[in-house]
Amino acid sequence: MSDGSSFYITTPIFYVNDVPHIGHAYTEVAADVLARWHRQSGEDAWLLTGTDEHGQKILRTATANGVTPKEWADRLVETAWKPLLATVDIRNDDFIRTTDVRHEVNAQKFLQHLYDAGHIYTGEYEGFYCVGCEEYKQPSDLIEGVGEYVGQQVCAIHSIPCELLHEKNYFFRMSTFGDQLLALYEENPNFVQPESARNEVISFVKQGLSDLSISRSSFDWGIKVPWDDSHVVYVWFDALLNYITAAGYGHDDEKFSRLWPATHVVGKDILRFHAVIWPAMLLAAGIEVPRQVFGHGWLLVGGEKMSKSKLTGIAPSQITDTFGSDAFRYYFMRAISFGQDGSFSWEDLSARYQSELANGFGNLASRVIAMVVRYCDGEIPVVGEFSDADELIRGTEKRVTDAATLAIGHLAIHEAIAAIWELVDDLNGYITAQEPWALAKDPANRARLEAVLATAMRGLGTLAVLLSPVVPQATAKLWTALGGSGLVSDQRIDRAWEWTGGPRVSPLEALFPRIEATVG
Ligand SMILES: [Zn+2]
Repeated sequence: MSDGSSFYITTPIFYVNDVPHIGHAYTEVAADVLARWHRQSGEDAWLLTGTDEHGQKILRTATANGVTPKEWADRLVETAWKPLLATVDIRNDDFIRTTDVRHEVNAQKFLQHLYDAGHIYTGEYEGFYCVGCEEYKQPSDLIEGVGEYVGQQVCAIHSIPCELLHEKNYFFRMSTFGDQLLALYEENPNFVQPESARNEVISFVKQGLSDLSISRSSFDWGIKVPWDDSHVVYVWFDALLNYITAAGYGHDDEKFSRLWPATHVVGKDILRFHAVIWPAMLLAAGIEVPRQVFGHGWLLVGGEKMSKSKLTGIAPSQITDTFGSDAFRYYFMRAISFGQDGSFSWEDLSARYQSELANGFGNLASRVIAMVVRYCDGEIPVVGEFSDADELIRGTEKRVTDAATLAIGHLAIHEAIAAIWELVDDLNGYITAQEPWALAKDPANRARLEAVLATAMRGLGTLAVLLSPVVPQATAKLWTALGGSGLVSDQRIDRAWEWTGGPRVSPLEALFPRIEATVG
């Protein structure tokens, strides 16, 4: 049913009640880097993000704030979530809200389809419900409360007691999909990645799946169950459907067949929803499962997971106001192995900014361009003969282009950047060894001087193209200074090393200016 021609990538949709922190921005940046990379590979890349706006918790906070839940969501989308995307320079192709008509109508179509096909039944449910998680908890998910909740069982994530709920609900026969899911994980080992996430999901499904309660009747802020409007759809069931309703499911078949299936980037805390419940829903509906579900790690600050319920949350603008959005993007993509937990610290950010971005990359660009201005009057030399040292740089350009492309293929963004940085380091070493400033002193060395500057310029062009998905603003400035034609973000990344240079350079302001203020 799908032609698989696109690279369709999604982030989890933001729960509107959350306060944006660097964890949200981290997921967005990772998905955005991948989307930009695939766009620059000539693919039809499509990045979806959005907001999750239904559920009891949103109804409660809206009521407490004296507004309707829709007004509450509207306010948060405009004041918190869309600004977050701008803060870290996300180039998303679409932004879906679960209150969009296109979502509500087509989510209902999906539900009706499952109901008609016999995958949904009426049942009774009693269990411990965490309003924070919007999820029924198993006894094993609960821990001993502390402080005011001592003696009670509380949610391990929110540290608040769960509510014992007894409801007549509609249930999705998820239990019947266990074997099909295990076969899927077996046949397609890349379906859930990284390996640690895959193993966790497989052992969870092997324990046997329960049916899933998919409706609530105790409140009405949600999508109405199409055959029984006294029930609203369980918020997770509703939210997961955003990935297909935004892609055209139920209303634009051509678009849907072009985009679907998607690559889902999610935090590992919501892996089960995406790697178990979601593919089971799709199997039931006869829709192709996602291409991949990739569970990234947690950001740790002072050894603790960043989360909505803990006060360690850092607003992304606290970082970007000082260092800029490029540095935010570079730091989190470079310093943390994508898929593993990683620690954030102001000291590490500051050190990498200075040594890698300002000194390693920015200074290299400024020096080379300044020398072309000084020694060649701004004209980029055209050279006939290159030395072995020049050819070695050429070899590095090709090698790192290929290595980075390969790494992105398995979502190893950190490996791609590390590969590209070999070119930064080699170019710095090359300039030091070739000493163009010494060559410039003797007109007899003119041909050699020009070969060195031409080689360095070409290396910078390759870097601009390769780093464009990660640091889009700095590379756009660099590209202009190098005299590159068109936009750097339109250059083919898999052929980055083929760039041969523009006619003239133009002045370049510092790509990563020195930061004087102490932060943190
Ligand atoms: Zn909870």
